Amino acid sequence: MTIKSICKVCGRRARRRCPAIEAYICTRCCGSKRGTDFGCPVDCEFYPFGIAGYNLWLNLNDALALKIARRVMSGVGEFQFQSVLNCFPAGGASSREDRGGSAYLAVLHCLLVERDGDGKTLANRWEADGWAGLRPDEALMMEYQSRAFVTVTEIQRVVDHQRTECIDIFDAERTPFIIVDRSLAGRAARFSRILGWLTHYPHFSKLGQFCHEVPQLVYQEFLDLIRLSLPEAMQGPSARPLAAASLPPFPAEGQSH
Ligand SMILES: [Zn+2]
Repeated sequence: MTIKSICKVCGRRARRRCPAIEAYICTRCCGSKRGTDFGCPVDCEFYPFGIAGYNLWLNLNDALALKIARRVMSGVGEFQFQSVLNCFPAGGASSREDRGGSAYLAVLHCLLVERDGDGKTLANRWEADGWAGLRPDEALMMEYQSRAFVTVTEIQRVVDHQRTECIDIFDAERTPFIIVDRSLAGRAARFSRILGWLTHYPHFSKLGQFCHEVPQLVYQEFLDLIRLSLPEAMQGPSARPLAAASLPPFPAEGQSH
């Protein structure tokens, strides 16, 4: 076999060139080491957390969402989950989309916000468990998603068909970041503000589903309310988990019709 056909890491048959270690590697080594052992570049098509591999990210996110829902259900039990679900405004909604929105927010609430007697979230417990049941890519994605928080994201400009430059209005530095989302890039209005879960990945960020635009008309009132009731939300990134824990559930998209 030539040098090109042998995986530099394990010696199996190589299938792809790895830009991180500048050598040919097999799919198994790529899958188990990308983003962790390998410092993958943003333009590698096999790296789900870079721009070029964004389609992989979409598939990964779908697969992980199912596993998260299962983990939450087995972690809190159906009865407890139902009581959390009922706390979300669309809990009794009749349309399937509304129920989906409530369930999504309730799952995140159970996973990242609720804490047990030792102050641990379900995500903390799962992480201590080595993200049991997750493949390497999924475990890496879960590490990023476990640091998601609720905030208000302001659109600065649309960069291209899938990238939008944004800031977090509770970030005192106002450091710009890129959200990759084709539908957002297609409809985003400059300086519109979106309330919802935000996750930062190494090369881009993502808004959670069922976000809500904060209308300009009530924006100042909304900010004043946050300042009064959640002063810690205004103190920057270190206070984010508090902000996530204390922001009230917000009505699911489409609840009014
Ligand atoms: Zn290999």
